[in-house]
This record gives sequence, structure tokens and C-alpha cells, in this order.
Amino acid sequence: MLGLMQQRPLLVSSLLTYAETYHSDTEIVSQTAEGALHRYDYRALGLRARRLANALIGLGVKPGDRVATLAWNGHRHLELYFAISGIGAVLHTINPRLFGDQIEYIVNHAEDSVIFFDPSFAPLLEGLAPDLRGVKGYVALTDADHMPATAFGPLHCYEELVAAASDIYQWPSFDENTASSLCYTSGTTGNPKGVLYSHRSTVLHAFCACARDGLSLSSRDSVMLIVPLFHVNAWGIPYAAAMCGAKLVLPGQALDGKSVFDLMVAEGCNFSLGVPTVWLNFFRYVEETPGLPLNDVRLDRVVIGGSAAPRAVIEKFHRLFGVFVIHAWGMSETSPLATIGNLLPRHRDLSTAETVDIQVKQGRAIYGVELKIVDAGGAKLAHDEAESGDLLVRGPWVTAGYFRDEGGDILDQDGWFATGDVAKIDSDGFVRITDRSKDVIKSGGEWISSIDLENVAVGCPGVAEAAVIGMKHDKWQERPLLIVVRKPDAEADKAAILAFLAGKIPKWWMPDDVVFVDELPHTATGKLQKMKLRQLFADYSLPQTRDQTRATATG
Ligand code: AMP
Repeated sequence: MLGLMQQRPLLVSSLLTYAETYHSDTEIVSQTAEGALHRYDYRALGLRARRLANALIGLGVKPGDRVATLAWNGHRHLELYFAISGIGAVLHTINPRLFGDQIEYIVNHAEDSVIFFDPSFAPLLEGLAPDLRGVKGYVALTDADHMPATAFGPLHCYEELVAAASDIYQWPSFDENTASSLCYTSGTTGNPKGVLYSHRSTVLHAFCACARDGLSLSSRDSVMLIVPLFHVNAWGIPYAAAMCGAKLVLPGQALDGKSVFDLMVAEGCNFSLGVPTVWLNFFRYVEETPGLPLNDVRLDRVVIGGSAAPRAVIEKFHRLFGVFVIHAWGMSETSPLATIGNLLPRHRDLSTAETVDIQVKQGRAIYGVELKIVDAGGAKLAHDEAESGDLLVRGPWVTAGYFRDEGGDILDQDGWFATGDVAKIDSDGFVRITDRSKDVIKSGGEWISSIDLENVAVGCPGVAEAAVIGMKHDKWQERPLLIVVRKPDAEADKAAILAFLAGKIPKWWMPDDVVFVDELPHTATGKLQKMKLRQLFADYSLPQTRDQTRATATG
């Protein structure tokens, strides 16, 4: 017997309609590239999103079309979140930190029809545009006075498009399983793969962010959204904030300690989210700047994810600001919220140090996400924190397959997705990520492909075989270590190898060190045994003196 409840589809547009109706004067503040703070409210966001919907239709965007963004966290980017998905098209947020070839690959793979970009990305697009085959138009996210001069086109001005469009628009209703957004992840081997979220998965995920044992987001929060809008839908916060009417503070590109501190204080932010590197920069600023008004910081909780939250950061938040760090684990493929570190009643009377012992774990599965760890043969391991196993996950906001079937069938017969992370789970269900079986390195919240690095390194004269593993690093969480087997009688040294790599890889991929070994461990099928290598180098520590040449990383 079927239930007799209404089949109202869970659509992204319904979140905006709700926010506009019930939290119309709640503020959205953003740092513009031009320097001024822009502020408006959910009423204005709704109005401009409807204008933008008409503008998108005017540009020829149809349901199902992919529309790309190349932009920092700002109010125009937020409008695109709701307008693109709202008309039934697919929001494709591009990570501008990928290098040119990768951006070209994903734009062509996604068949993006229009690209909306911050003017600061015009030089990047200048080089790529001739090879972006399907792109029919480019829109600069600015007003007429700040339009970049470009050779590519057709080029439109965002503010002119929005101003010229009608604000009368009825968000259409359609199947909640329709695709709403697309994020490419480089977290696996080979080319980046597209994770295609649906309206349904997005709305369900937003409920979880608002749940008390989720991130507990509510209308009483003023949220400093540091995690970029181009990284897994900013961990779902734009949708969840609309669902509950939370105030949003969007910091633009300025994510250095001072900018974050000042904006957070000025806007009374009590909640924030970001990768560890951002918080390490934040504390460096706080500790190096005497006389800061620490009492004006209104933070009460902070979500850290994307990489393991360092114990020292959790402790500093507690000590300096009385802030509870919510440590969360997830991935592009899980929307991303999967495990969240909230305390249980039995933890109430623990000492601070004991509480931090719980917080350094990645938290427990939230309702909707099922987890298990398995051994090499696929047998389920007990939740007794004894053994590490491959972490498998399934749930209604976990991917069922990559866009255009890249990677083929990625679920096992029971619907489990292998995360590529290795974990222990304790008897309370707290997950501790202990290792990674996928061969990638995560530095400052961004991926470095060890395989690409190895392929370049073996081209170096004198190198017989090369392996790259991620080593712990105080500032960037992980940095690459290159392990080399020399050809017989070859003399290639560290300086020669690094000089060979220069110019062939992005600067921030440059290994922090090169070490030489007689042989590398292999599996029976000849694959490099990265886990074994990581064990062999467990006691090695990187020379942490190199100043990484990349800009601030933010997750
Ligand atoms: P992405 O798809 O770029 O969001 O990256 C997901 C991956 O980041 C996961 O599979 C983990 O390897 C890593 N990761 C995310 N959150 C954490 C965390 N809290 N602790 C350790 N690793 C994490």
C-alpha cells in the first residue's frame, strides 16, 4: 500500500523561495574584487536570481545545459547557484587553481555552453578560450565600469544582463532527480571526473547541514563562508543557509589571516568553515599580531574538513576563542558531508584534552550515510578501532557514477562506493582516517597527482623508477616526497632532478625533497605499493623550509 502524501519535488529553487519569504531581510554580505563590501538580503537575492534566470534563457541556456563559473565567493556567484539550477540547467563550478590543461579538459568534457567569470580570471581564459570548443559566450561578473579587455568572446557584462532582464519569473517544477550541479574531482587517478549532483541529493544534504547533530546551521548563525563556492558546492552551505535563513558572509579572494579576522569581527560571524591551511594562516596572524581585539570574535563553532584537522588547531580554537571545532570528513563524491564530529552525552564530563581526543577523529556517520570498513578481501571489519580497512560509503547524496560514465561502474553489487580512504571506526562509530589508498596527495586542500609527477620524473636522465608519496607538513598538511631509483651508474642528484621538473609541472607540485633508494616495493602485478612505501617512510620528515610558491589554498 502506498502512502498518501504529496509528491512535491525537492528543488533548489524551493530553498530560495523559502528564504525570500521567511528570511527576506537576512543579510548576505560579500567582499567585492573592487574593494567595497556589498550587502543585500535574501529578498534581493531572490529578485536578482529571477532576473538572472531570464538573462540565462536570453543567452540560449536550456534545461540540462552546463553553465560554468570561474569565480571566488561573492554574491553574484551565489545568484548563479540558484538561477542556473533553478531553470533546470546545471551549475558547473570550476576550480581556478587547476592548471590550464585541466580546465580546458573539464570545460570540454562538461560541454559548458557559457562561462561566468571574475574579471581576474580573464588572462587565464584568454589562453584557453580558443580551445574551449562548445562555449558560446562569456560573462564577466562585474559592472560596465570594470569590464576586462579580452580578445575572446562573445563577452557580456553581468550587471548589464541582470539589469536588462525582467524580474518576473516562475521557477519551473520538474523531477527532483534532475541534475543541479557538477563538480570535477581530481581525487582519483587519471583525468578529473565529474560528480553530478541532483536537486534531490542537494536538498537532502542541506537538511543534514541544518540538523542539530549535523552542522546545526540555523537562522541564528552568521556564517563566514571560507570554503570556496567552487569546492564541492562550498560543502552545501549556500543551500543549507537558504533552507534555514542563515546570514552569509562571502570573503571573496582575500583569505589571509588579517582579512578573515577583520571581516569575521565586523560581521559578527559565529560560524565558519574551511580547510586546515586557512586556519593555520589565521592563527599565525592572530599570534603574530599584538593587541588584536580577540574578545570581539563571536565564533562559537568552526567546521574543519578537506584534510585532517590538526590537534593544535582544535586546541587553539578552544583556548583562544572557546570555539568548538566540528571535524568533518567527506569528499566530492559524498556531496560532501558524510561524517561529522559532534559529541555524545557520555562525553559531557570529559577534560579538554579528552574532548580533543574525540575531536581529532573525523566524526560519526550522519543519518543518510552508511559506512563500513573492509579488509583486502572485502570482508567487513568490526567497529572496535582495532584494524584499519578500506572505507566504503553509500547513501542518497553519494555518487552512483561519474559524469559520462568515466571510470565505469564504480559501485559494488550492494551499492557501496570505495572512497580510497583507509579508516578505523570505534565502537561509538567515530571514524579515524588513517591512510589513503588512492595515490594522490592533498596539499593545502588541493590535489597533486602523484602519478603525473612520477611520469614526469621518470623522464629525467638517470632516473630508472620514481614514486611520489604525500608526507605530513605543518602548513600544507601534505607535501610530495619523490623517491627515486637511479639507473645503474647514473649520478642524477636532487638538484638535477628538481631542475629537470621545473617548468614541466605546476610550481606548487614541486617535491619538497628527493630521496634515493635501491628498489621500490611492488605488488604481484607490478604496481607500486604506496601504502608500503608510506610505512617505510613513516619516520621520515620533510625539510619544512621551502616556501611554497602557490597562493593561499582554501579547500
Ligand atoms: P575532495 O573530493 O577534494 O573533497 O577530497 C576528498 C578527500 O579529502 C577524502 O577522500 C579524504 O582523502 C580527504 N579528506 C576530506 N576530509 C578529511 C578529513 N577530515 N580528514 C582527513 N582527510 C580528509
